[in-house]
Amino acid sequence: MHRGAIAEINLSAIAHNLQTVKNLVKDRPVIAVVKADAYGHGAVEVSKSLLKEGISCLAVAFTNEALELRNASIKAPIIVLFDKREIKDFFKWNLIPVIHNMDTAIYLNEEAKKQRKRIKVHVKIDTGMGRLGLCGKDVIHDLIKIGKMSGIELEGILSHFSEADLFDRTYADIQLKRFRKICKTVSNTLKKNLFIHIANSAAVISYKDAYLDAVRPGIMLYGYSPISRRYDSQIRNGEHIMHGLIPAMTVKTNILYIRKVPRGTPISYGRTFITKRDSKIGIVPVGYADGYNRLFSNNADMLVRGKRVPVIGRVCMDLTMIDLTDVKNVLEGDEVVILGQQKNEIIDANELAQRANTIPYEILTSLGSKSKKIYV
Ligand SMILES: *Cc1c(COP(=O)(O)O)cnc(C)c1O
Repeated sequence: MHRGAIAEINLSAIAHNLQTVKNLVKDRPVIAVVKADAYGHGAVEVSKSLLKEGISCLAVAFTNEALELRNASIKAPIIVLFDKREIKDFFKWNLIPVIHNMDTAIYLNEEAKKQRKRIKVHVKIDTGMGRLGLCGKDVIHDLIKIGKMSGIELEGILSHFSEADLFDRTYADIQLKRFRKICKTVSNTLKKNLFIHIANSAAVISYKDAYLDAVRPGIMLYGYSPISRRYDSQIRNGEHIMHGLIPAMTVKTNILYIRKVPRGTPISYGRTFITKRDSKIGIVPVGYADGYNRLFSNNADMLVRGKRVPVIGRVCMDLTMIDLTDVKNVLEGDEVVILGQQKNEIIDANELAQRANTIPYEILTSLGSKSKKIYV
């Protein structure tokens, strides 16, 4: 038996979500963020599918993610968001690095001159995220310096919002204003049109002013809105607005064993659950080693025969127990949906995220990366 769950990835859902992005941003280029194995959906398959649907460029976090795509014969431009190691690979594989500091710029320029090449780069500026990027008083000076380096072709400038859900736009407005101002000065000084981009999914959904020359959505493509329930509840009665997005990932497995136990039986480590009635317990072959968070212990549901059933006791490394007492005619081998839809019931990544006090991004990347993926 294969370890872990099966993640069924619906590529037409991803195509539909891309179309939703395009409808919003009109004819602007879409830089599809496929870092972390396309948020757990499988970077190669997802990228190929998105390219067929007409995206212009891909973005990954690190160089090895870009190499995986190149090795799968993907020839499209790839932006490497965070890496500065293995600089030679940028040249060898024709990647577009994002530069976050002057040292990297100088080193890249040297290498380019040595190789008698000119390397396209984008430069990141920190407008208030406090993570990476040129910042402080010298930003404009540094950008102009990079723009004049003979081995470097400064193609674009980017920044990143600190508010991923844009619940409150005050801070994003400040960031956007700073960003525009810096880009304008640099562009005027260098007398060069620069390609500027800042919009993540939240901005694509709700912040048109931030579209600029291109957008950089991630989570939206996989069918989730980063706009939180908290925000939605103020405008739509607590109902989660999906913005017409369709979740692309379903995670499923099959019941391994069913056991009948009397009332009063403790279940799993630490005896945190004790049966209150004669019970039918299902043993599911997925645990925290498979990306099913231990915080789901006594705290999440799974779907069996179209019904919600509770997780009982602690989630173990390889196994999780569910209460099947109320499910009629259930059999060993029956399908268990951990994430997704079964008949009329749905467990989405927002629900699981809320249970584990996290965000849908983490649910998708942890379950997706540990599951065997199939494409439908
Ligand atoms: C991850 C990431 C994105 C995409 O963010 P989403 O919220 O998933 O749309 C965009 N830009 C950068 C720099 C990122 O790291």
